[in-house]
Amino acid sequence: MKAFHNVLIVGGGTAGWLTACYLARTLGGGAGAAGVSITLVESPEIGIIGVGEGTFPSIRSTLAAIGIDEARFVRECQATFKQGVRFNNWVRPAGAPGADHYFHPFSQPSQRQGGPELLPHWLQGTAGAGIPFAQAATMQKRVADAAHGPKRLADADYAGPMNYAYHFDAGRFAALLAEHGRSLGVRHVQATVERVELDAGGAIACVHTREHGALGADLYVDCTGFRAALIGEALGSPFRKMDDVLFVDRALAMQVPYPALDAPIPSYTISTAHEAGWTWDIGLQQRRGIGYVYSSRHTTIERAEQVLRQYIGAAADGLTPRQLKLNIGYRDVQWVKNCVAVGLSGGFLEPLESSGIGLIETAAYLIGHLFPFNGDSAPVAAQFNRLMRERYERVVDFIKLHYCLSQRTDSAFWTDNTDPRSIPASLRDKLAMWRCRPPHRLDFVADVEMYPTSSWQYVLYGMEFATGLHPSACHPARRDEAAAEFAMIAKLAGHALADLPPHRALVEHLCERR
Ligand code: FAD
Repeated sequence: MKAFHNVLIVGGGTAGWLTACYLARTLGGGAGAAGVSITLVESPEIGIIGVGEGTFPSIRSTLAAIGIDEARFVRECQATFKQGVRFNNWVRPAGAPGADHYFHPFSQPSQRQGGPELLPHWLQGTAGAGIPFAQAATMQKRVADAAHGPKRLADADYAGPMNYAYHFDAGRFAALLAEHGRSLGVRHVQATVERVELDAGGAIACVHTREHGALGADLYVDCTGFRAALIGEALGSPFRKMDDVLFVDRALAMQVPYPALDAPIPSYTISTAHEAGWTWDIGLQQRRGIGYVYSSRHTTIERAEQVLRQYIGAAADGLTPRQLKLNIGYRDVQWVKNCVAVGLSGGFLEPLESSGIGLIETAAYLIGHLFPFNGDSAPVAAQFNRLMRERYERVVDFIKLHYCLSQRTDSAFWTDNTDPRSIPASLRDKLAMWRCRPPHRLDFVADVEMYPTSSWQYVLYGMEFATGLHPSACHPARRDEAAAEFAMIAKLAGHALADLPPHRALVEHLCERR
Protein backbone atom coordinates (compact mmCIF):
# COMPACT_ATOMS: atom_id res chain seq x y z
CA MET A 1 0.00 0.00 0.00
CA LYS A 2 1.43 3.39 -1.04
CA ALA A 3 1.66 6.02 1.71
CA PHE A 4 -0.33 9.24 1.19
CA HIS A 5 1.86 12.28 0.53
CA ASN A 6 -0.08 14.50 -1.85
CA VAL A 7 -3.52 16.04 -1.59
CA LEU A 8 -5.17 17.81 -4.52
CA ILE A 9 -8.10 20.05 -3.68
CA VAL A 10 -10.25 20.98 -6.68
CA GLY A 11 -12.17 24.22 -6.08
CA GLY A 12 -11.31 27.55 -4.45
CA GLY A 13 -14.49 28.64 -2.67
CA THR A 14 -15.00 28.59 1.11
CA ALA A 15 -14.87 24.78 1.10
CA GLY A 16 -11.65 24.53 -0.91
CA TRP A 17 -9.63 27.17 0.88
CA LEU A 18 -10.88 26.37 4.39
CA THR A 19 -9.95 22.71 3.85
CA ALA A 20 -6.59 23.69 2.35
CA CYS A 21 -5.72 25.92 5.32
CA TYR A 22 -6.89 23.35 7.84
CA LEU A 23 -4.95 20.49 6.25
CA ALA A 24 -1.85 22.65 5.80
CA ARG A 25 -1.88 23.42 9.53
CA THR A 26 -2.74 19.87 10.59
CA LEU A 27 -0.73 17.75 8.18
CA GLY A 28 2.42 19.78 7.70
CA GLY A 29 1.60 21.69 4.54
CA GLY A 30 3.53 21.90 1.31
CA ALA A 31 6.54 23.55 2.86
CA GLY A 32 7.52 20.84 5.37
CA ALA A 33 9.84 18.15 3.99
CA ALA A 34 8.06 15.40 5.94
CA GLY A 35 4.62 16.95 5.66
CA VAL A 36 1.81 16.16 3.29
CA SER A 37 1.93 18.44 0.25
CA ILE A 38 -1.28 20.26 -0.58
CA THR A 39 -2.22 21.71 -3.97
CA LEU A 40 -5.40 23.63 -4.70
CA VAL A 41 -6.58 23.99 -8.27
CA GLU A 42 -9.37 26.41 -9.07
CA SER A 43 -10.90 27.51 -12.30
CA PRO A 44 -10.22 31.11 -13.32
CA GLU A 45 -13.49 30.99 -15.29
CA ILE A 46 -15.97 29.40 -12.89
CA GLY A 47 -16.64 31.75 -10.00
CA ILE A 48 -17.41 30.83 -6.41
CA ILE A 49 -21.02 30.86 -5.24
CA GLY A 50 -20.28 34.04 -3.26
CA VAL A 51 -23.11 33.71 -0.72
CA GLY A 52 -22.85 32.15 2.72
CA GLU A 53 -22.39 35.07 5.05
CA GLY A 54 -23.70 33.64 8.32
CA THR A 55 -21.77 31.23 10.54
CA PHE A 56 -22.07 29.17 13.71
CA PRO A 57 -19.78 29.63 16.79
CA SER A 58 -17.62 26.65 15.73
CA ILE A 59 -16.05 29.03 13.18
CA ARG A 60 -14.05 30.68 15.99
CA SER A 61 -12.08 27.57 16.85
CA THR A 62 -11.61 26.83 13.15
CA LEU A 63 -10.17 30.30 12.48
CA ALA A 64 -7.95 30.02 15.55
CA ALA A 65 -6.80 26.54 14.46
CA ILE A 66 -5.78 27.75 11.01
CA GLY A 67 -3.90 30.67 12.56
CA ILE A 68 -5.76 33.80 11.44
CA ASP A 69 -6.02 36.51 14.09
CA GLU A 70 -9.44 37.91 14.84
CA ALA A 71 -8.73 41.57 14.02
CA ARG A 72 -7.35 40.68 10.59
CA PHE A 73 -10.34 38.47 9.89
CA VAL A 74 -12.84 41.19 10.93
CA ARG A 75 -10.99 43.90 8.99
CA GLU A 76 -10.43 41.99 5.76
CA CYS A 77 -13.78 40.20 5.56
CA GLN A 78 -16.02 43.16 6.54
CA ALA A 79 -17.06 40.88 9.38
CA THR A 80 -19.53 41.62 12.16
CA PHE A 81 -20.54 39.64 15.24
CA LYS A 82 -23.47 37.23 15.24
CA GLN A 83 -24.97 36.29 18.61
CA GLY A 84 -27.84 34.25 17.27
CA VAL A 85 -30.84 34.42 14.98
CA ARG A 86 -34.02 36.43 15.40
CA PHE A 87 -36.96 34.62 13.82
CA ASN A 88 -39.80 36.93 12.75
CA ASN A 89 -43.27 35.60 11.87
CA TRP A 90 -42.27 31.93 11.97
CA VAL A 91 -44.94 30.94 14.50
CA ARG A 92 -47.76 33.01 13.01
CA PRO A 93 -48.10 35.49 10.14
CA ALA A 94 -47.40 39.20 10.60
CA GLY A 95 -50.21 41.01 12.36
CA ALA A 96 -51.73 37.91 14.02
CA PRO A 97 -52.26 38.16 17.81
CA GLY A 98 -49.40 36.66 19.83
CA ALA A 99 -45.62 36.99 19.84
CA ASP A 100 -44.26 38.00 16.44
CA HIS A 101 -40.69 36.79 16.95
CA TYR A 102 -38.36 34.62 18.98
CA PHE A 103 -34.60 34.52 19.47
CA HIS A 104 -32.13 31.66 19.17
CA PRO A 105 -29.08 32.85 21.16
CA PHE A 106 -25.71 31.12 20.96
CA SER A 107 -25.02 31.30 24.70
CA GLN A 108 -26.09 28.28 26.72
CA PRO A 109 -28.76 28.59 29.43
CA SER A 110 -27.13 29.65 32.67
CA GLN A 111 -26.52 26.87 35.18
CA ARG A 112 -24.65 27.36 38.43
CA GLN A 113 -22.56 24.44 39.61
CA GLY A 114 -24.91 22.30 41.66
CA GLY A 115 -27.78 24.62 40.78
CA PRO A 116 -31.07 23.44 39.25
CA GLU A 117 -31.50 23.04 35.51
CA LEU A 118 -33.59 26.08 34.56
CA LEU A 119 -35.69 24.75 31.69
CA PRO A 120 -38.11 22.58 33.73
CA HIS A 121 -38.66 25.52 36.08
CA TRP A 122 -39.23 27.87 33.17
CA LEU A 123 -41.81 25.39 31.84
CA GLN A 124 -43.57 25.60 35.21
CA GLY A 125 -43.71 29.39 34.98
CA THR A 126 -41.09 30.17 37.64
CA ALA A 127 -39.45 32.82 35.40
CA GLY A 128 -42.72 34.79 35.18
CA ALA A 129 -45.53 34.83 32.66
CA GLY A 130 -44.73 35.61 29.03
CA ILE A 131 -40.94 35.70 29.42
CA PRO A 132 -39.38 33.67 26.57
CA PHE A 133 -36.96 30.92 27.57
CA ALA A 134 -34.14 32.61 25.60
CA GLN A 135 -34.60 35.74 27.70
CA ALA A 136 -35.11 34.03 31.04
CA ALA A 137 -32.12 31.70 30.78
CA THR A 138 -29.38 33.92 29.29
CA MET A 139 -28.30 37.55 29.22
CA GLN A 140 -27.58 37.38 25.52
CA LYS A 141 -31.01 38.31 24.20
CA ARG A 142 -30.94 41.66 25.98
CA VAL A 143 -27.37 42.33 24.85
CA ALA A 144 -28.18 41.53 21.23
CA ASP A 145 -31.51 43.41 21.29
CA ALA A 146 -29.60 46.52 22.38
CA ALA A 147 -27.12 46.08 19.45
CA HIS A 148 -24.21 45.60 21.83
CA GLY A 149 -21.33 43.29 20.92
CA PRO A 150 -20.60 39.93 22.58
CA LYS A 151 -17.15 40.87 23.90
CA ARG A 152 -15.22 43.76 25.44
CA LEU A 153 -12.60 45.73 23.51
CA ALA A 154 -9.79 44.20 25.58
CA ASP A 155 -10.96 40.58 25.39
CA ALA A 156 -8.56 38.08 23.81
CA ASP A 157 -9.00 36.85 20.24
CA TYR A 158 -12.04 34.63 19.73
CA ALA A 159 -13.13 35.01 23.40
CA GLY A 160 -15.82 36.99 25.19
CA PRO A 161 -18.50 36.66 27.82
CA MET A 162 -21.18 35.85 25.20
CA ASN A 163 -20.93 32.98 22.75
CA TYR A 164 -20.74 34.26 19.17
CA ALA A 165 -20.10 33.65 15.49
CA TYR A 166 -19.77 36.14 12.60
CA HIS A 167 -21.32 37.52 9.49
CA PHE A 168 -18.86 38.22 6.69
CA ASP A 169 -18.48 38.93 3.00
CA ALA A 170 -18.08 35.50 1.36
CA GLY A 171 -15.89 36.74 -1.51
CA ARG A 172 -13.50 38.51 0.85
CA PHE A 173 -13.40 35.45 3.12
CA ALA A 174 -12.32 33.17 0.25
CA ALA A 175 -9.65 35.76 -0.73
CA LEU A 176 -8.30 35.94 2.84
CA LEU A 177 -8.20 32.16 3.14
CA ALA A 178 -6.42 31.92 -0.22
CA GLU A 179 -3.72 34.37 0.83
CA HIS A 180 -3.34 32.64 4.18
CA GLY A 181 -3.30 29.18 2.57
CA ARG A 182 -0.49 30.17 0.24
CA SER A 183 1.49 31.50 3.22
CA LEU A 184 1.05 28.06 4.84
CA GLY A 185 2.65 26.42 1.81
CA VAL A 186 -0.42 25.43 -0.21
CA ARG A 187 0.45 25.33 -3.92
CA HIS A 188 -2.12 27.31 -5.89
CA VAL A 189 -2.88 26.38 -9.50
CA GLN A 190 -5.30 28.35 -11.65
CA ALA A 191 -6.76 25.87 -14.11
CA THR A 192 -10.05 24.33 -15.15
CA VAL A 193 -10.45 20.59 -14.71
CA GLU A 194 -11.91 19.30 -17.97
CA ARG A 195 -11.78 15.56 -17.41
CA VAL A 196 -11.29 13.11 -14.55
CA GLU A 197 -9.41 9.92 -15.40
CA LEU A 198 -10.19 6.77 -13.42
CA ASP A 199 -7.84 3.81 -12.96
CA ALA A 200 -8.78 0.16 -13.44
CA GLY A 201 -10.08 -0.07 -9.86
CA GLY A 202 -12.39 2.92 -10.28
CA ALA A 203 -10.27 5.35 -8.21
CA ILE A 204 -9.12 8.70 -9.61
CA ALA A 205 -5.85 8.33 -11.54
CA CYS A 206 -5.50 12.06 -12.33
CA VAL A 207 -7.46 15.12 -13.38
CA HIS A 208 -6.82 16.77 -16.75
CA THR A 209 -6.75 20.55 -16.76
CA ARG A 210 -7.00 22.86 -19.74
CA GLU A 211 -4.04 25.03 -18.73
CA HIS A 212 -1.62 22.70 -16.93
CA GLY A 213 -2.24 19.21 -18.29
CA ALA A 214 -2.66 16.26 -15.90
CA LEU A 215 -2.47 16.70 -12.11
CA GLY A 216 -2.19 13.65 -9.86
CA ALA A 217 -2.41 13.06 -6.09
CA ASP A 218 -2.91 10.37 -3.46
CA LEU A 219 -6.12 11.98 -2.18
CA TYR A 220 -8.49 14.23 -4.14
CA VAL A 221 -10.82 16.65 -2.36
CA ASP A 222 -13.83 17.68 -4.41
CA CYS A 223 -14.73 21.29 -3.57
CA THR A 224 -16.25 22.13 -6.95
CA GLY A 225 -19.54 23.31 -5.46
CA PHE A 226 -22.93 22.18 -6.79
CA ARG A 227 -21.09 20.94 -9.92
CA ALA A 228 -19.54 18.02 -7.93
CA ALA A 229 -17.16 17.34 -10.81
CA LEU A 230 -15.29 14.50 -9.05
CA ILE A 231 -17.60 12.87 -6.50
CA GLY A 232 -20.75 13.22 -8.62
CA GLU A 233 -19.92 13.50 -12.34
CA ALA A 234 -16.84 11.19 -12.32
CA LEU A 235 -17.52 8.78 -9.46
CA GLY A 236 -21.31 8.80 -9.49
CA SER A 237 -21.89 8.87 -5.73
CA PRO A 238 -25.71 9.16 -5.50
CA PHE A 239 -27.32 12.38 -4.30
CA ARG A 240 -30.11 11.96 -1.75
CA LYS A 241 -32.64 14.70 -2.46
CA MET A 242 -34.33 16.10 0.65
CA ASP A 243 -36.91 18.24 -1.13
CA ASP A 244 -39.79 16.21 0.33
CA VAL A 245 -38.74 17.47 3.79
CA LEU A 246 -37.09 20.84 3.13
CA PHE A 247 -38.99 22.67 0.40
CA VAL A 248 -36.95 25.78 -0.41
CA ASP A 249 -34.99 25.40 -3.66
CA ARG A 250 -34.40 28.92 -5.01
CA ALA A 251 -32.89 32.14 -3.67
CA LEU A 252 -32.89 35.78 -4.72
CA ALA A 253 -30.05 37.75 -3.14
CA MET A 254 -29.21 41.46 -2.96
CA GLN A 255 -26.49 43.60 -1.41
CA VAL A 256 -28.21 46.59 0.15
CA PRO A 257 -26.49 49.80 1.36
CA TYR A 258 -27.12 51.19 4.85
CA PRO A 259 -29.08 54.46 5.07
CA ALA A 260 -26.08 55.97 6.93
CA LEU A 261 -22.56 54.66 7.46
CA ASP A 262 -22.87 54.97 11.25
CA ALA A 263 -26.20 53.08 11.41
CA PRO A 264 -26.29 50.52 14.26
CA ILE A 265 -25.52 46.98 13.08
CA PRO A 266 -27.73 44.19 14.43
CA SER A 267 -25.64 41.53 16.14
CA TYR A 268 -27.83 38.68 14.89
CA THR A 269 -29.21 37.34 11.64
CA ILE A 270 -32.80 38.40 11.04
CA SER A 271 -34.80 35.57 9.51
CA THR A 272 -38.32 36.59 8.50
CA ALA A 273 -40.86 34.01 7.36
CA HIS A 274 -42.99 34.80 4.30
CA GLU A 275 -45.69 33.00 2.33
CA ALA A 276 -43.33 30.60 0.50
CA GLY A 277 -40.03 30.76 2.38
CA TRP A 278 -38.01 33.21 4.42
CA THR A 279 -35.63 36.14 4.06
CA TRP A 280 -32.18 36.38 5.60
CA ASP A 281 -30.99 39.86 6.58
CA ILE A 282 -27.35 40.09 7.59
CA GLY A 283 -25.63 43.31 8.65
CA LEU A 284 -22.02 43.60 7.48
CA GLN A 285 -19.83 46.64 8.13
CA GLN A 286 -20.82 48.65 5.06
CA ARG A 287 -23.85 46.88 3.63
CA ARG A 288 -26.58 44.38 4.35
CA GLY A 289 -26.77 41.00 2.64
CA ILE A 290 -30.44 40.15 2.11
CA GLY A 291 -32.01 37.23 0.30
CA TYR A 292 -35.31 35.43 -0.09
CA VAL A 293 -35.05 31.64 -0.02
CA TYR A 294 -38.26 30.16 -1.38
CA SER A 295 -39.92 27.07 -2.76
CA SER A 296 -40.48 27.17 -6.52
CA ARG A 297 -43.29 24.64 -6.02
CA HIS A 298 -45.16 27.19 -3.90
CA THR A 299 -44.57 30.51 -5.67
CA THR A 300 -43.26 32.12 -8.86
CA ILE A 301 -40.04 34.05 -9.32
CA GLU A 302 -42.02 37.23 -10.06
CA ARG A 303 -43.95 36.95 -6.80
CA ALA A 304 -40.75 36.06 -4.91
CA GLU A 305 -39.07 39.21 -6.18
CA GLN A 306 -42.11 41.24 -5.09
CA VAL A 307 -41.90 39.76 -1.59
CA LEU A 308 -38.17 40.52 -1.39
CA ARG A 309 -38.64 44.11 -2.56
CA GLN A 310 -41.51 44.64 -0.14
CA TYR A 311 -39.29 43.41 2.69
CA ILE A 312 -36.37 45.69 1.78
CA GLY A 313 -38.41 48.75 0.83
CA ALA A 314 -36.98 51.78 -1.01
CA ALA A 315 -33.38 50.66 -0.46
CA ALA A 316 -33.97 47.96 -3.12
CA ASP A 317 -34.88 50.46 -5.83
CA GLY A 318 -32.44 50.21 -8.70
CA LEU A 319 -30.93 46.93 -7.43
CA THR A 320 -31.25 43.67 -9.35
CA PRO A 321 -31.42 40.44 -7.34
CA ARG A 322 -29.06 37.57 -8.08
CA GLN A 323 -30.89 34.29 -8.77
CA LEU A 324 -29.64 31.02 -7.32
CA LYS A 325 -30.89 27.47 -7.74
CA LEU A 326 -30.30 25.21 -4.72
CA ASN A 327 -29.77 21.42 -4.76
CA ILE A 328 -31.24 20.42 -1.41
CA GLY A 329 -29.88 17.13 -0.14
CA TYR A 330 -26.62 15.31 0.37
CA ARG A 331 -24.59 12.30 -0.67
CA ASP A 332 -24.79 9.35 1.70
CA VAL A 333 -21.27 8.44 0.60
CA GLN A 334 -19.01 11.47 0.52
CA TRP A 335 -15.67 9.65 0.50
CA VAL A 336 -15.30 7.21 -2.41
CA LYS A 337 -11.97 5.41 -2.87
CA ASN A 338 -9.38 8.24 -3.05
CA CYS A 339 -11.83 11.14 -3.34
CA VAL A 340 -13.65 13.02 -0.59
CA ALA A 341 -16.26 15.76 -1.06
CA VAL A 342 -16.34 18.91 1.06
CA GLY A 343 -18.87 21.73 0.80
CA LEU A 344 -21.70 22.01 -1.71
CA SER A 345 -20.37 19.02 -3.71
CA GLY A 346 -21.12 16.82 -0.67
CA GLY A 347 -24.47 18.37 0.15
CA PHE A 348 -26.46 21.46 1.06
CA LEU A 349 -29.46 21.79 3.35
CA GLU A 350 -30.53 25.42 2.78
CA PRO A 351 -29.11 28.53 4.50
CA LEU A 352 -31.19 28.39 7.70
CA GLU A 353 -28.94 28.16 10.80
CA SER A 354 -25.75 28.34 8.69
CA SER A 355 -25.14 24.63 8.45
CA GLY A 356 -23.17 24.96 5.16
CA ILE A 357 -19.93 26.36 6.54
CA GLY A 358 -20.33 24.36 9.77
CA LEU A 359 -20.40 21.12 7.76
CA ILE A 360 -17.30 22.25 5.83
CA GLU A 361 -15.51 22.81 9.14
CA THR A 362 -16.49 19.32 10.29
CA ALA A 363 -15.37 17.65 7.07
CA ALA A 364 -11.99 19.45 7.11
CA TYR A 365 -11.54 18.52 10.77
CA LEU A 366 -12.34 14.86 10.09
CA ILE A 367 -10.00 14.63 7.08
CA GLY A 368 -7.23 16.28 9.09
CA HIS A 369 -7.61 14.00 12.08
CA LEU A 370 -8.48 10.70 10.36
CA PHE A 371 -5.95 11.19 7.55
CA PRO A 372 -4.82 7.80 6.15
CA PHE A 373 -1.05 8.42 6.14
CA ASN A 374 -0.36 4.76 5.37
CA GLY A 375 -2.56 4.81 2.27
CA ASP A 376 -5.22 2.51 3.74
CA SER A 377 -8.14 4.82 3.08
CA ALA A 378 -11.05 2.32 3.07
CA PRO A 379 -11.63 2.20 6.88
CA VAL A 380 -11.17 5.97 7.13
CA ALA A 381 -13.67 6.49 4.32
CA ALA A 382 -16.20 4.27 6.13
CA GLN A 383 -15.80 6.24 9.34
CA PHE A 384 -15.93 9.61 7.59
CA ASN A 385 -19.05 8.58 5.68
CA ARG A 386 -20.83 7.38 8.81
CA LEU A 387 -20.02 10.52 10.80
CA MET A 388 -20.98 12.90 8.00
CA ARG A 389 -24.18 11.03 7.10
CA GLU A 390 -25.37 11.03 10.70
CA ARG A 391 -24.51 14.70 11.02
CA TYR A 392 -26.50 15.58 7.89
CA GLU A 393 -29.49 13.56 9.17
CA ARG A 394 -29.50 15.54 12.41
CA VAL A 395 -29.13 18.87 10.65
CA VAL A 396 -32.15 17.97 8.50
CA ASP A 397 -34.17 17.32 11.68
CA PHE A 398 -33.03 20.56 13.29
CA ILE A 399 -33.90 22.67 10.24
CA LYS A 400 -37.26 20.96 9.81
CA LEU A 401 -38.02 21.71 13.48
CA HIS A 402 -38.23 25.41 12.55
CA TYR A 403 -40.91 24.73 9.96
CA CYS A 404 -42.99 21.85 11.25
CA LEU A 405 -44.10 23.53 14.50
CA SER A 406 -45.44 26.63 12.79
CA GLN A 407 -49.05 27.58 13.43
CA ARG A 408 -49.22 29.35 10.06
CA THR A 409 -52.03 28.24 7.75
CA ASP A 410 -51.94 31.24 5.45
CA SER A 411 -50.32 29.42 2.50
CA ALA A 412 -49.74 25.91 1.13
CA PHE A 413 -46.02 26.28 1.90
CA TRP A 414 -46.77 26.32 5.64
CA THR A 415 -49.52 23.72 5.68
CA ASP A 416 -47.34 21.38 3.61
CA ASN A 417 -44.50 21.95 6.06
CA THR A 418 -46.61 20.85 9.01
CA ASP A 419 -47.98 17.77 7.21
CA PRO A 420 -46.64 14.83 9.30
CA ARG A 421 -45.67 13.01 6.09
CA SER A 422 -43.02 15.67 5.49
CA ILE A 423 -41.48 15.22 8.96
CA PRO A 424 -38.71 12.58 9.26
CA ALA A 425 -39.55 9.74 11.66
CA SER A 426 -36.44 10.58 13.72
CA LEU A 427 -37.80 14.08 14.36
CA ARG A 428 -41.34 12.83 15.03
CA ASP A 429 -39.91 10.49 17.70
CA LYS A 430 -38.05 13.36 19.36
CA LEU A 431 -41.15 15.56 19.39
CA ALA A 432 -43.18 12.71 20.88
CA MET A 433 -40.71 12.40 23.77
CA TRP A 434 -40.65 16.15 24.33
CA ARG A 435 -44.43 16.25 24.82
CA CYS A 436 -43.87 15.21 28.44
CA ARG A 437 -40.32 16.33 29.14
CA PRO A 438 -37.94 18.90 27.61
CA PRO A 439 -34.98 18.00 25.38
CA HIS A 440 -32.07 16.60 27.36
CA ARG A 441 -28.45 16.18 26.29
CA LEU A 442 -29.02 12.41 26.37
CA ASP A 443 -31.23 12.86 23.28
CA PHE A 444 -28.14 13.85 21.31
CA VAL A 445 -24.92 12.00 20.45
CA ALA A 446 -22.26 14.66 20.88
CA ASP A 447 -19.89 13.62 18.09
CA VAL A 448 -22.45 13.79 15.34
CA GLU A 449 -24.43 16.83 16.44
CA MET A 450 -23.81 20.19 14.88
CA TYR A 451 -26.27 21.99 17.18
CA PRO A 452 -26.08 21.75 20.97
CA THR A 453 -29.05 20.74 23.11
CA SER A 454 -29.69 24.39 23.98
CA SER A 455 -30.24 25.30 20.30
CA TRP A 456 -32.99 22.68 20.11
CA GLN A 457 -34.50 24.04 23.32
CA TYR A 458 -34.48 27.67 22.17
CA VAL A 459 -36.08 26.84 18.83
CA LEU A 460 -38.57 24.34 20.26
CA TYR A 461 -39.94 26.75 22.85
CA GLY A 462 -39.50 29.77 20.60
CA MET A 463 -41.92 27.96 18.27
CA GLU A 464 -44.27 27.63 21.29
CA PHE A 465 -44.08 23.84 21.56
CA ALA A 466 -46.12 22.55 24.50
CA THR A 467 -44.42 20.19 26.96
CA GLY A 468 -46.88 18.93 29.55
CA LEU A 469 -44.34 18.56 32.33
CA HIS A 470 -45.15 15.97 34.98
CA PRO A 471 -45.49 17.75 38.38
CA SER A 472 -42.74 15.64 39.91
CA ALA A 473 -40.25 16.59 37.15
CA CYS A 474 -39.33 19.71 39.16
CA HIS A 475 -38.57 19.33 42.81
CA PRO A 476 -40.57 22.07 44.58
CA ALA A 477 -37.67 22.61 46.98
CA ARG A 478 -35.55 23.83 44.09
CA ARG A 479 -38.11 26.29 42.80
CA ASP A 480 -36.79 29.11 44.99
CA GLU A 481 -33.26 28.48 43.78
CA ALA A 482 -34.44 28.61 40.17
CA ALA A 483 -36.41 31.81 40.83
CA ALA A 484 -33.30 33.39 42.38
CA GLU A 485 -31.24 32.35 39.33
CA PHE A 486 -33.78 33.87 36.91
CA ALA A 487 -33.67 37.12 38.91
CA MET A 488 -29.87 37.07 38.90
CA ILE A 489 -29.74 36.63 35.11
CA ALA A 490 -32.07 39.62 34.64
CA LYS A 491 -29.90 41.74 36.94
CA LEU A 492 -26.62 40.65 35.31
CA ALA A 493 -28.03 41.45 31.88
CA GLY A 494 -28.11 45.09 33.01
CA HIS A 495 -24.44 44.89 34.03
CA ALA A 496 -23.54 43.20 30.74
CA LEU A 497 -25.13 46.05 28.81
CA ALA A 498 -22.95 48.53 30.69
CA ASP A 499 -19.85 46.40 30.21
CA LEU A 500 -20.11 45.44 26.55
CA PRO A 501 -19.57 48.04 23.81
CA PRO A 502 -22.04 48.89 21.06
CA HIS A 503 -21.61 46.40 18.25
CA ARG A 504 -20.41 48.93 15.67
CA ALA A 505 -17.84 50.35 18.13
CA LEU A 506 -16.46 46.85 18.73
CA VAL A 507 -16.16 46.19 15.01
CA GLU A 508 -14.47 49.55 14.37
CA HIS A 509 -12.05 48.94 17.22
CA LEU A 510 -10.95 45.61 15.70
CA CYS A 511 -10.65 47.15 12.24
CA GLU A 512 -8.29 49.80 13.58
CA ARG A 513 -6.15 47.28 15.49
CA ARG A 514 -3.00 46.14 13.65
P1 FAD B 1 -18.32 27.28 -4.49
O1 FAD B 1 -18.26 28.55 -3.75
O2 FAD B 1 -19.35 27.18 -5.60
O3 FAD B 1 -16.88 27.03 -5.11
C1 FAD B 1 -16.66 26.10 -6.16
C2 FAD B 1 -15.22 26.23 -6.62
O4 FAD B 1 -14.96 25.15 -7.51
C3 FAD B 1 -14.88 27.51 -7.38
O5 FAD B 1 -13.61 27.98 -6.99
C4 FAD B 1 -14.79 27.05 -8.84
O6 FAD B 1 -13.88 27.82 -9.60
C5 FAD B 1 -14.28 25.64 -8.64
N1 FAD B 1 -14.57 24.74 -9.76
C6 FAD B 1 -15.78 24.27 -10.15
N2 FAD B 1 -15.63 23.46 -11.21
C7 FAD B 1 -14.30 23.41 -11.45
C8 FAD B 1 -13.51 22.75 -12.45
N3 FAD B 1 -14.05 21.97 -13.37
N4 FAD B 1 -12.17 22.95 -12.43
C9 FAD B 1 -11.58 23.74 -11.48
N5 FAD B 1 -12.28 24.37 -10.54
C10 FAD B 1 -13.62 24.22 -10.54
N6 FAD B 1 -23.66 28.59 4.35
C11 FAD B 1 -23.53 29.05 5.60
O7 FAD B 1 -22.81 28.46 6.40
N7 FAD B 1 -24.19 30.17 6.01
C12 FAD B 1 -25.04 30.85 5.20
O8 FAD B 1 -25.58 31.88 5.60
C13 FAD B 1 -25.24 30.35 3.89
N8 FAD B 1 -26.08 30.96 3.04
C14 FAD B 1 -26.25 30.46 1.79
C15 FAD B 1 -27.19 31.04 0.94
C16 FAD B 1 -27.41 30.50 -0.33
C17 FAD B 1 -28.45 31.11 -1.21
C18 FAD B 1 -26.64 29.39 -0.76
C19 FAD B 1 -26.83 28.81 -2.13
C20 FAD B 1 -25.70 28.83 0.07
C21 FAD B 1 -25.51 29.34 1.35
N9 FAD B 1 -24.60 28.76 2.23
C22 FAD B 1 -24.49 29.21 3.50
C23 FAD B 1 -23.72 27.66 1.79
C24 FAD B 1 -22.34 28.25 1.46
O9 FAD B 1 -22.48 29.30 0.52
C25 FAD B 1 -21.42 27.18 0.90
O10 FAD B 1 -21.44 26.07 1.76
C26 FAD B 1 -20.00 27.69 0.81
O11 FAD B 1 -19.92 28.91 0.12
C27 FAD B 1 -19.11 26.68 0.15
O12 FAD B 1 -19.24 26.65 -1.23
P2 FAD B 1 -18.23 25.72 -2.02
O13 FAD B 1 -16.84 26.17 -1.74
O14 FAD B 1 -18.58 24.31 -1.78
O15 FAD B 1 -18.60 26.00 -3.56
